[in-house]
This record gives sequence, C-alpha cells and structure tokens, in this order.
Amino acid sequence: MSAVYLKPGREKSLLRRHPWVFSGAVERVMGAPEDGQTVQVLDSARRFLGWGAYSSHSQMRVRIWSWDQGEAIDAAFFRRRLEAALAARQALVPEVQTNAVRLVHAESDGLPGLIVDRYADTLVMQCLSSGAERWRETIADLLLELSGLENIYERSDADVRQLEGLPSRLGPLRGQAPEGPLQICENELKFWVDITQGHKTGFYLDQRQNRLRLRQLARDREVLDCFCYTGGFALNALAGGARSVLAVDSSAEALALGRRNLELNDFPYAQVEWLEADVFQALRGLRDRGRSFDLVVLDPPKFAPTTAQVERASRAYKDINLLAFKLLRPGGLLVTFSCSGGVDAGLFQKIVAGAALDAGVDGQIVEHLHQAPDHPVALNFPEGAYLKGLILRV
Ligand code: SAH
Repeated sequence: MSAVYLKPGREKSLLRRHPWVFSGAVERVMGAPEDGQTVQVLDSARRFLGWGAYSSHSQMRVRIWSWDQGEAIDAAFFRRRLEAALAARQALVPEVQTNAVRLVHAESDGLPGLIVDRYADTLVMQCLSSGAERWRETIADLLLELSGLENIYERSDADVRQLEGLPSRLGPLRGQAPEGPLQICENELKFWVDITQGHKTGFYLDQRQNRLRLRQLARDREVLDCFCYTGGFALNALAGGARSVLAVDSSAEALALGRRNLELNDFPYAQVEWLEADVFQALRGLRDRGRSFDLVVLDPPKFAPTTAQVERASRAYKDINLLAFKLLRPGGLLVTFSCSGGVDAGLFQKIVAGAALDAGVDGQIVEHLHQAPDHPVALNFPEGAYLKGLILRV
C-alpha cells in the first residue's frame, strides 16, 4: 500500500477532518502511487490520518475518502456513500418540488471531486479529481442500480480537470445521449435543460429556493434580471405576478433557451424582453437612459474562483451592485449573489455596503440567501458554502 507522510505539524487540518492534503504539506511519498490510487496518509509520527486518492499533478496531492483505518476503499465503500447521499435528497428535496436535483455534492457528501445531478430520468456525472476519475465505472454502475435509471451523461469537461492533468471528456457514459434539451419541472415551472452543452451540468440547481423566494416578492414589479442564463429568475418573477422582465445575458444560446422556456410555460411573449449584452455595459446604458426598476437580480458567474482573484472580483461586484442600486426606485429590492469561493459572506456584504454608499442610497438587508439544500455544506468543509446572496430594500 502506498503511503503519504506529512511534514511535522501539517496534520492539523486533517485532524479537523478537512479532506485536502496540499503538496506543501507532504514530506515524502512511499510506493510510487498512480493518479487516483488510494493511499494511506500518515503524520510525521506515522500515525494514521486517512485514506485518500493520490494526484501527482494537482496542488491537492491527496483528497481524503475515509477517516476510518478499518474502512476499505472499494465498491462497497462507494455504495455506502452514494446510498447515503441519495437518501438525504429524498428527505430534503421532495419530488413534488422538482425532478431536477443534485444527488452528490462532492466533498460535502464525502465524495471529493464527484458531482451527480439528476434531470428528470437522466443522470449527469462530473469527475473533477483523479480519485473520482479512477472509480468512474464503479460509480456509474452503482448509480444505475441505486437510482433505477438507465442514462448517465458525462460532463467531465470543467476547467479544473486540467489542474489534475485529466483530459476533458463528455458524452454518454451509460445508455443513450439525449436527442435535444431535456424537460424538467421546478416548483410548477417547466424548463428546457441542455445537459450536453449548457453551463455546469445544464442548470443552476443551487438557486432553486432563491428563484422561488423571488417569485414571492415579484408581484406588480418591473424586474431586471441580470445574468439571466435560461430565464430561471425571469420566469419565477412572472409566475409571481411581475409586470415585466428585462433579462440580460451575454450568451445567445442561453437566451434562445430562455425564449423557449417562456413559451413552454405559456407566458405572454411580450412580458420578457431578452437582451444579449454584457451586463456591465447594459447597466450603464440603462442608467444613461434614465431607466428604473422595482426589483433587480444580479447573479453573476464566479468572478473569483480562488482567493488570488479576490481584489479584481471585489471591484467587479462593487461595480454591478453600485449600478443596480442606482436603477432601483425607492422601495425597490436588490437580490444580489456571489458564487465565488474566494469571496466569503462577510466580504460580500462589505462590498455591497460600499456600493450602496457610493450610489448614495440607504439599504437594508431583509434576507440572507444560500445554496439549495441538495448542495449541503459539510461542517468539516466550509469551502462548500460558495453561494451567498442578499435581499436588500432601498
Ligand atoms: N440566474 C441564472 C444563472 C446565472 S449563471 C439561473 O438561475 O439559471 C451566470 C450567467 O452569466 C451565465 O448565463 C453567463 O452566460 C452569464 N454571463 C457571464 N458573464 C457575463 C457578462 N459579462 N455579461 C452578461 N452575462 C454574462
């Protein structure tokens, strides 16, 4: 059995059960493990810390599978972890609410590097680490057995695979590839989801609760939905009785699907204006034309995936939030998000406060928002809490 010995004192985070071993913490590696192979991680006094998957390319040299010395990392191990993850979803996200659910949320489900989403009768699987990659066939078989479904589409095409030295891979892993977008249902709204080319695995499942919350706040409001993707917030605003929505995104494909989503739910065509534009420019254009709104949604992509980009990302968040504040009528609501791992909730609130100050508006936080419960945060892995949002009243 290959083993990884840590430098003295570098076991601290592992003793708190944080599942990452960085290359700088490693004293030496015994036994030339292959990428993805299970290794034993030991402290400098040769005490067992955990079993994990080795990765020679990544700065994350080992990701821990298990803290139990007596637990073998084999098909039975993956069966136990997958069973637990699937059972939790059944309890947390009732089927009446949606048939699109994140079944496995990587580290937070004790399965580092593995994402599995269910869209109606199709599973989408993403292997983001060497360990998940090594076990993908086993995991695929278990997923079919435990879910009773037949189709798994693989979306292992995320950029982070490069850090692991893994090639991009997408296509059917079990069963058939879908012939076009799949239809899902979320809180009585229907959406087309393109699992083969859409963002992430096709849909931003993490915003489910927040889309519903927006619906409850939208009545009679004129809404601006920035970074609208395929219209998740826009359609919920309409479902909640919004007067009109201006939906902005830079992706023509996303907007095209958004239009189809509007049709699918029988909303009047003219209630949404779809604008293909850069949000930074669009907000300035709206300001210059003296436009105003009763509710603005800002759901931008990750500006700071890691702490290295925090400063630039902070400026970008401040910029859009400042412009949004200026477009809001008195009594209006700003629903603003950050999904950047590098920007925590405290910093995000400070940025938004700075934006309000510079915009010359008084704002109140009326609610804090988070990712949906099928994207849980393991207490030993605080990084799992990546999505934070605020509802503000001006
Ligand atoms: N709110 C959406 C998810 C938004 S994801 C939902 O609930 O489904 C972020 C979106 O921002 C993506 O659709 C992406 O195409 C878009 N985007 C990224 N950079 C942009 C920019 N500078 N201007 C406009 N849209 C942008």
